[in-house]
Amino acid sequence: MTPHTPTGAGASTGAVLTVRDGGVGPCPPGALRVRPLPGEATTSYLTRLATAYQLTPGQLLDGLHITTTNAPTPPPAGDIHLSAEATRRLAAFARTPSAHLARALSQRPPPAAIGTAGTATARWHTVDCAVQPLPACTCCTIRRSPYQAVPAWVHPPPDLPRALICTRHQQAAADPRHNRPLDIRDLPELTRARHTSRRPPTTASLAWATTITTRWYDHHQHLHQRWRSRLNRLTTTNPHLTKGPASPALTCRGLITYPETLTLATTLDHLPPHPPAHPDPRPTAFLAHLATRLGLPRLAPADHDLLRTRLTTH
Ligand SMILES: [Zn+2]
Repeated sequence: MTPHTPTGAGASTGAVLTVRDGGVGPCPPGALRVRPLPGEATTSYLTRLATAYQLTPGQLLDGLHITTTNAPTPPPAGDIHLSAEATRRLAAFARTPSAHLARALSQRPPPAAIGTAGTATARWHTVDCAVQPLPACTCCTIRRSPYQAVPAWVHPPPDLPRALICTRHQQAAADPRHNRPLDIRDLPELTRARHTSRRPPTTASLAWATTITTRWYDHHQHLHQRWRSRLNRLTTTNPHLTKGPASPALTCRGLITYPETLTLATTLDHLPPHPPAHPDPRPTAFLAHLATRLGLPRLAPADHDLLRTRLTTH
C-alpha cells in the first residue's frame, strides 16, 4: 500500500488519500463532500474533487492507483474515459454510490478497451468544440462544493436547444468559449422558454429548428430586431462579453435564439409526418399559426428559406 498524503486543505482536515492495491478492496472514503452536477463532464467533476484536496486531477488519480494515458487536458476541451473499476474507486473516495456517480456524470461511452477493462484505468481525450460542455451556474456549483467555487462544466440536455439555463439563479451559457455563465436577469423570455419546455421537441424537429433560426439570425431575417435587442441587453448586463476574443453576436447566438428555436421545433412537430402529394406552395395556415406562436404579425419566408424547404420535405 502506498499512502498519499496531500498537503494543504486535505491534510488540514485529516483527509488521507489511500487506496488498497489490487483494486478489489474498498477504497477509504475522502473527508470532503463534492457532489456532481447533473450532466457534469467527468473531467470537470474530477477537477473539482481534486481541487478540494489541493491536488491536480492527475495527482488524485495517481493516489487512487488509477493508471492514466494521454496528457491531462482541462475542460471544456478535454475529458476523460474511466474504466468501471476506476469509476468505482472514484465513487468510493467521493462517498457516492458508483451508480449514482455514473448516472450524474455525462460520461460518454468509453472505448471497449477501457470500458471493459478489469483494471483501474483512465484515458484523457479531447472533445470537439461542437459537443463541448458549457459553464455551469456558479450558484448551483457552490452548493455542491465544500470550500471554494471551482468552475464546473456541464453537458446541456440533448432534447432542447443547445444551452444551459438555470431558471433559479438566472444564469445561462450556450458557448464553451465563455469561461463562465452569463447573467440573464434582463432576458426573462429565456427563463420562460425553459420553464414551458415540459414536452421537449423531437430530435429531427430540433435539428431543423436550430438550423433554421441560425440561418435567420446570420442573415438578419424575420426576427432581427428582437434578437438585436436581446443581444444589446445581454452585453449590457455582461460587459465582459465585448472584451472577449470572439464576437458576442456569434458566441451568444444560441442563447439569443433559444426561445424561438424551441417554439419553432415544437410547432414543426405538429406537421403531418409526410408532406401532401401535391404540396401547397403557400402553406398559409401553418405559417399563420407559426407567426402567432412566434409573436410576429406575419411570416412570409422566401422560396429559398430553409423553413419552406422543411415544409416540403419528408
Ligand atoms: Zn443555478
